[in-house]
Amino acid sequence: MNKSDSLIMGQLLTDSGFLPARSPDKADIFVVNTCTVRAHAEDRALAYISGLRGWKQKGERVLAVVGCLAQDRADDISRKMRFVDLILGPDSYRKIGEYVMHIIEANTRIIDTKLGNETYHGIYPSLSRVSGFVSIMRGCNNYCSYCIVPYVRGRARSRPSDDIRNEIVHLAKHGIKDITLLGQNVNEYKHGNIAFADLLERLSDVNGLHRLRFLTSHPKDFNKKTVQVIKNHPNICEWFHLPLQSGNNRVLKLMNRQYTKEEYYGLIDYIRREIPSASITTDIIVGFPSESEDEFKETMALVRQIRFDDAYTYRYSTRPGTKASQLPPLDENTIKRRLSNLIEIQNMITKEKTERMKDRKYEILIEGPARGCASRGKTRGNKDVVVEKRIEPGTIINVLITRVNGHTPIGEVINKDA
Ligand code: SAH
Ligand code: SF4
Repeated sequence: MNKSDSLIMGQLLTDSGFLPARSPDKADIFVVNTCTVRAHAEDRALAYISGLRGWKQKGERVLAVVGCLAQDRADDISRKMRFVDLILGPDSYRKIGEYVMHIIEANTRIIDTKLGNETYHGIYPSLSRVSGFVSIMRGCNNYCSYCIVPYVRGRARSRPSDDIRNEIVHLAKHGIKDITLLGQNVNEYKHGNIAFADLLERLSDVNGLHRLRFLTSHPKDFNKKTVQVIKNHPNICEWFHLPLQSGNNRVLKLMNRQYTKEEYYGLIDYIRREIPSASITTDIIVGFPSESEDEFKETMALVRQIRFDDAYTYRYSTRPGTKASQLPPLDENTIKRRLSNLIEIQNMITKEKTERMKDRKYEILIEGPARGCASRGKTRGNKDVVVEKRIEPGTIINVLITRVNGHTPIGEVINKDA
């Protein structure tokens, strides 16, 4: 989402007459887009901004701090980092060019952290790559008890479907072959009478669009109709990122996730019955306050049972202001141990699944060069693959996997398709 937002800001600044700089040294404006989903992201962003004091002092320059951390800690940043000129929350980017001009002309500082209904409709950043991100909704109303997103990104709102389609037509015309639709919970998309499954269907016939995918799904809202639309449209990828978070019903309830592990399992089962080649990935949090050893083991057991293609695993991080922040945290060593146990299991599963790709054929979209005379690309299931030949980015080819190096499958071209 932040990558996509950065491109939007780049486009807005270009529209205001600014040009991209080749290096920070040559730049007059520096925009730091920040994340605050876990304490680690926040600490890194603050350290990075502190490191820009020297850059700022080297001339008449404008330093902007934007994004979720800026939204959450605007006062703090403004007070403690006097060298920051512009502070913008996620709904205030539309005026970035105007604000920068005003700061240059009036030698002042500006803070704008108003949240509202912004969807950045009508802004189509131009790209020169193979894949692109298109945000279809912003904000979140779910209030999972650990999560800061609803506080810093505001209420859920959907972008008009015509505008989304226009942007995708624009991207496809510029050679982008692979588009990921973005939203905190894309399954909640609703504009007029168009729901998410309808939107997917409406986008699947865009000329030149070879791969359409989306992030992130919420298991409580993911429905069978969406699975059917994916099954029936070859250019919608059979990749499902469905965050599980925990495999224990008491913890899921405390997290306010609004599904049980049985319902989650039922969904996975349905997807695999309908689309046997589906790739399924997930997010899991370990060490949520009060999670017992047995409850953690239930998560481990479910991970073993489901055998995800990949999992993003996180140790619980207290976010001030959230409901879970009122609960006493578990001790750090317990959380660390649980995380490494979970990573160990998932690594084993990922490795076994990767090994099983050997001697099978996959459709690969080439994204760029790899070391030696090779290229790297992605399967429809979002798995990175190395192809032992230099191939133009954007090419779609069939590849036979011949060996595996660590977690990376390596293959050779069978024939050129498109
Ligand atoms: N809207 C998406 C993504 C939210 S952030 C969703 O609902 O899945 C991405 C992931 O970060 C989440 O899925 C969750 O696993 C993790 N996360 C969010 N808040 C966290 C916290 N306080 N501590 C640890 N992990 C967290
Ligand atoms: Fe956070 Fe839950 Fe919303 Fe995802 S659905 S952004 S985890 S509150």
